[in-house]
Parts: sequence; structure tokens; C-alpha cells
Amino acid sequence: MAENPPRIPSMNELLNTCEERGLVERWGRESCGAALTQALEQIRARRRAGELQAGVDDDFWRRVSDLLEILPAMEMCAALNATGVVLHTNLGRAPWPAEARDAAALASGAAVCEIDRVTGQRGRRDAAVSRLLAQVTGAEAGLPVNNNAATVLLAVAALARGRKVVVARQELVEIGGSYRMPEVIEAAGAEMVAIGTTNRVHLKDFAAALQDPAVACVLRVHPSNFRIVGFTKAPEMSELAELCREHGVPLVYDLGSGVIHGEDLPGLELEHPVRHSIDAGCDLVTFSGDKLLGGPQAGLIVGAAPLVEKLRSDMLTRCLRLDKTMLAALEAVLRIHTLGEQAARERIPGLTRIGYGAAELEPRAQALLQAAAKALTASDGWSLQVIATKGRVGSGASPVEDLEGAGLLVSHHTHHADDLAQALRARALPLFTRIQDGAVLLDLRAIDPADDSELLAALSSLA
Ligand SMILES: *Cc1c(COP(=O)(O)O)cnc(C)c1O
Repeated sequence: MAENPPRIPSMNELLNTCEERGLVERWGRESCGAALTQALEQIRARRRAGELQAGVDDDFWRRVSDLLEILPAMEMCAALNATGVVLHTNLGRAPWPAEARDAAALASGAAVCEIDRVTGQRGRRDAAVSRLLAQVTGAEAGLPVNNNAATVLLAVAALARGRKVVVARQELVEIGGSYRMPEVIEAAGAEMVAIGTTNRVHLKDFAAALQDPAVACVLRVHPSNFRIVGFTKAPEMSELAELCREHGVPLVYDLGSGVIHGEDLPGLELEHPVRHSIDAGCDLVTFSGDKLLGGPQAGLIVGAAPLVEKLRSDMLTRCLRLDKTMLAALEAVLRIHTLGEQAARERIPGLTRIGYGAAELEPRAQALLQAAAKALTASDGWSLQVIATKGRVGSGASPVEDLEGAGLLVSHHTHHADDLAQALRARALPLFTRIQDGAVLLDLRAIDPADDSELLAALSSLA
């Protein structure tokens, strides 16, 4: 006679066992519950496959503790960004739209990546993204690579390897992570011809440099993370484009942030829409995927079709190619941009958050204060105050423009603000804040309103 399958204990009983084994103390109840659910699913699958004696045994518990060593143990885990900097490079830059997350997850298994589903023949993995890039920027063609740092390397290498590149001295920028324009040009195998002075460069400087037949391209670079003000000058892009056309030398513009939608948002007044640079006659324009576009890390190149093809066929392009999940996320983000300005501002979290005014953030800060005051009481030495904040776009966009917002200032009469901030970072869902006036400042700008309850949980845990 067949034995009955062993009884599977209830979730509560299993959680109690987790408690006895010290797992709840180490990983928290929620993570234990999730690991148990997954391990139980495996028992059911084994029984369906005919292994009727599968049950809660030593193997099961080994599986539960293995599962807890994966997701709950992740060092690169989700975080709460209460710094007020929307595109915070150290917190992963642009927060993705839900569509991008879903698209990346769907592409993580077998996916229509480098295959044509009509013919069944080999296809191009970036075909959709390249087409959408052209569509949303008004350019003839597009090409995605690993990041924007790579686009400049690729463009200079493909167009000017063994020849010369003209750059204005005021645009010889250094971007975070020791990315310096002169060194990038050198690494691409080209020779840099620096023209003009720190503060001024004239059209005639470019004209003089273009007399040299060894010049293979003119590179302009958006001064992302700084501003030169006062006695300054640089030629209009359209007049420089005309000059380059006369000489038959391509004009490449490294735009960095690259606005597709949101050019009227506060703080973005001085950022250049990609479309304007194309209209002004730039032959190639490059920008990042995880800055104002609002998607995954990527370097995007748009411009004249023959030049884009020249870059595409360069060996470096293969070295700099994107993963299928990044391409899927990018395609989703670009599809949102094809829906127009309003959809982009609503669906792309980076743009939504840059667009928040103090009027939207202040009531959220007030509600957080009311709720947090129950745990962090004045009689226990806590002080809570809603204040006006100055946030930033981040990632080198609009480096000196403030975004007027609101936040909650938290302090305690004996605990040091640095210690409070550290305690907030140490949580399972780490909360990153700013220190201002000796207190912890939670700026609500870069927090999804749905996560305000997580801010409350974090603050309450300080009590
Ligand atoms: C940000 C930036 C880069 C680097 O882009 P990544 O996508 O971070 O590689 C290059 N050039 C400019 C002008 C930038 O603003």
C-alpha cells in the first residue's frame, strides 16, 4: 500500500522554525516568508513529478537557507533616495519606468534578440532601438552602445583614427571617474588639436584649424558639470555646422544629458534637446541612456546615416555592445518617448521627479512629519521640521540650477546627525539622506510617493 505523503506544516509553523533556527533574526520575517514560499513550491513540483514523499526535510531547510543567501543578501539592493538629487550617479542614476523593468525581465530568458522572426535568419540586435532613436530625435539613423563615454571613444576612433580631431579648450572636460577628453581622444588613436582659450573660441579659430587636411572631425562637448560665465564666447552650432560642411569634415557633439522630452521643466532650461542639435546641423550627436532619457545605462549615437554606419561597422562597436536586457529596457523607454511630451513626463520617473514643485512635495513632507512624530516625540528629544529644499537634476545636467522642493529635517538633542544617517543607511532597504545644519534632511523629490510609507518605517525605526 502506498504511504500517504508527509504533512506540510503551515506557514506559521515554518516561520516559527525559522525563528528557532535564528533565520528571522538574521534575515527578517519577510525574507524568510519569501524563501519558504519558493522552497514549498519546489516540494509541490516534486510531488507533481511523482516524488510523493517530498516534504519538509533537511534538504528543504538547506534550500531555505541557500535562498536567503541570494536576494536578501544582495549588496546591490534597492535603496531610497532622499538626497534630492534625481539622477544620482552613486544611487544608479535614472530610476526606470515600470515598462522598462518588465521589458528587461521578459528579455532575460530566450528572446528575439539577434534573429529575424519572419525569415528565421540572423538579425541585428539593436534594430528596434536604432530605429526608435532616429524617430524620437529626428535624425536619419541611430546606434546604441554601452555608455556615453564609449560613444565618444567610438566616434573619434571610427572617424579620426590616425588623424586629427579639433576641440575647443573650453570643452576639454573631465567627467567623474577620470574620463578626460584629451585622454579619450588619445585612446581612440587620434591626435587632438586644441583651439581657442579657456573662456573664448571663435568661428575663425575653427576655420583656421580646418585648413589642415589631416583634420578628420570636429568634436564639441557639452560642459555638463560646470559653467563658464562672464567674458565667454563660442560659435553657434549652426554656423559651425555650416563651416564643417564646407570643409567636408563631420561635426560630432557630445551632449551628455540629451533631452528628448521635458525641455521646459524647471532646471532643464539650459540643457539642449537632441533634436535641436540635429536641426542645427550636427552630423553625430551622442548622449546617455540613464540621464534625462530616463532609462538604463547606454550610450546613444544619432545622426547622418552614412556616418552612423561607419561607426556601426567599426570593430570597437562589437566590444561596446549592450546586453539584451538593456536593449529591451531601452526599447521600452524609447517607446514611451514616442508617445509624446505628456506621456514621457508621466511615465518616466526621472522626468516626473524633476517636475515636482514645492506645492506637490510640501504636503507629503507635512504628512510624513505628522506620522513620524508619533514615534519620534519631542519629549524623547526629537525635533522634526518641514523645510524648503534645494534639489538637483544630477549626473552633470544643470549643475548650478536648484530645484525648489520640500523635505523633513530630523534631529535629536543627543544623537549626532551622522549617526542617524548611518542607521538609516544600515536598514534592509537603505535610506540615503543629506546632512544639513547638523540635522538629517529627507528631501522628498526623488522618492516615489508610493514609498513615503517606507520613509516613515525608516524614521520610526530610529526611536
Ligand atoms: C555624462 C557625460 C558623459 C559620460 O556618459 P556616461 O553615460 O556616464 O558614460 C560624457 N560626456 C558628457 C558631456 C556627459 O555629460
